[in-house]
Amino acid sequence: MSYAFHDADYTSRCSEKTLQTNDEGFFLSFADNLAEIAGKDWIEKKFGKLKSDRARIKILYDYEPVKKALIEVLSNVRELYRSKSSEKSFACRKEAERSLNENNPLKSLSLFSQSVLQAEKTGENKNVDNGNSLSLGLYGRSRVLMEMEKYDFAQNDIRLALKENLPDNVKGEAYFRLAVCYKATRDDKKADVAFNLAQKLMKEDKGRLLARYRNELRGTIYDKEEEENKVIPTQNEFTVGELLLFNLQMLQFNAHEIYEKVHPANHRFKGSKINYIGVGIYPTVALFNHQCYPSVTRYFVGKNIVVNAIKSMDQDEIVAENYGPIFTKKPLQFRQKSLISRYWFKCECLACTQNWPMLNDLSEESPIRLRCPKEQCKQIFTLPIQNDIVKCAKCESEINLRDRINTIKWCEDQYYLALEKMDAMEPNEGVRILNEALNSFHRISIPPHKATHVAEETLRACYADLGNTFKSPTQIKL
Ligand SMILES: [Zn+2]
Ligand SMILES: [Zn+2]
Repeated sequence: MSYAFHDADYTSRCSEKTLQTNDEGFFLSFADNLAEIAGKDWIEKKFGKLKSDRARIKILYDYEPVKKALIEVLSNVRELYRSKSSEKSFACRKEAERSLNENNPLKSLSLFSQSVLQAEKTGENKNVDNGNSLSLGLYGRSRVLMEMEKYDFAQNDIRLALKENLPDNVKGEAYFRLAVCYKATRDDKKADVAFNLAQKLMKEDKGRLLARYRNELRGTIYDKEEEENKVIPTQNEFTVGELLLFNLQMLQFNAHEIYEKVHPANHRFKGSKINYIGVGIYPTVALFNHQCYPSVTRYFVGKNIVVNAIKSMDQDEIVAENYGPIFTKKPLQFRQKSLISRYWFKCECLACTQNWPMLNDLSEESPIRLRCPKEQCKQIFTLPIQNDIVKCAKCESEINLRDRINTIKWCEDQYYLALEKMDAMEPNEGVRILNEALNSFHRISIPPHKATHVAEETLRACYADLGNTFKSPTQIKL
C-alpha cells in the first residue's frame, strides 16, 4: 500500500491488536514463547504454508516441542474469578425483598441480580439457605421481573431456580408463577401443564421425583464429558480451537459493535446517549461495503441487528453502510487514515473523492443543486438561478425548476416537523415524515445539503429508539 494517508505503523497497530490492550499480557508472552520454541524456520516453512485454520491448530499438537510447551502452560490455566459468598447473596436478597416492598423494583432487580451473582453453587454452603441461595435469588428475581411485565426473563429465572433445586415448600408456587408467565407469553399448552403441576404440588409432592430424574440424566452426560476430557486435545477442542482462530481472524474486518440507547426517565431523546455493550459478527451485514455517506443505519433488538435505509437509492446503487467515520463528523484525512489502517482499503466514496465539508462547515446557505426534471438526464443545476425557466445544456429541453425549488422548501419544513415529533416522543411519526421528505429530496436534488444531513441524524435517532433502550433510573453522565 503506497498512498498519501497511509501510516504503516498505525496500520500494523490496528491490525495486530484489534480488540486487545497494548499492555503485555498472558497471551502476548505465551505467543512469543511458543514462537521462540517453534523457531523462525518452522513458522515460515511449515506453519506459514498451511491453508486452513484446522491445519494451523492441528500442527501445534503434531510438532513435539511446541506441543509440550503448549500442554504444559495450558494444564496450569485455571479459571479466575472473585470467590462467591452465600452470606452476601443472602444479605442482597433480603435487601432486594425490602426494596420490592418499598415499591422500588429497579433497585430490587439490581439487588436480586447481585444476590444471584454472589450465590455459591447449589449445595456448596449449607449454612446459608440450606445450600439454596442461588435458586432463591433466581426465584426472588422472577417476582420483580413479573411485576415489570418481563415474563420471558421471569420464566427463565423460575426454570433455572427449579433446576437448581428450590425448597419443596415453594415449588408449587414456582410452577404457579411459571404458568402465569407462559400464559402471559401466549404459550397456552405449557401454561396448562405448569398449572396442573402446581395444583398437584401444592397438595402432594411429585416435584422431588422430577428433580431427581433430571439430576440422574445430567449425571450421565457429565460423566461422558469427563471421560472425553482425559484425551488432550479432544476432537471437540480441535473444533473449538479452529472456530476460535477463524473468528479471531474475522474480528478486525467483520465485527459490529452492539449498542443500546440509554435515556433519562423523563424523555426518550433529550439527554439520551448510545452505550456500546458488546461486539458481534453478523455474517450478512458484514458483506456490506463502506461509504462515508452511508445509505443505511443499524440498531439492535436483543442480539439481532436491524438494518434500515435512511435515504432513497437509485437502481443498482451500492447499499453501503458505515464502518465508523461518517463524513458529517470526521474530516477526509481522518477517515482515509482510519479506513486504510483498520480495514485496509482506500475509500473512494463520493464524499471522499469530492471532499464534502463536514456538517459544521456546511453553511445553511450552501448552494442547492437540482437534478434536471427530464428522466435519464444527468444535468445538475446549481441555485440560485435568474430564471425559473431554463434550457438544459445536456438534454436541451426547456424546463421549469419552480416545482423543484418549492419541493426543497417543503422538505426542509418536513425535516423541522419531524424534529418536533421526536421532541414530542412520537418517533414512528418522525420516521414516516422523514422517509417521505428524504425520498423527495434525493429524487430531485443531490447531497451534500446541510438540512438533509441533520434530518438523517434525526431519522437515525428515531430508528435507534425502536431498538434496545434502557431507561436510566439515575442521571446520565454524558
Ligand atoms: Zn469515503
Ligand atoms: Zn436535462
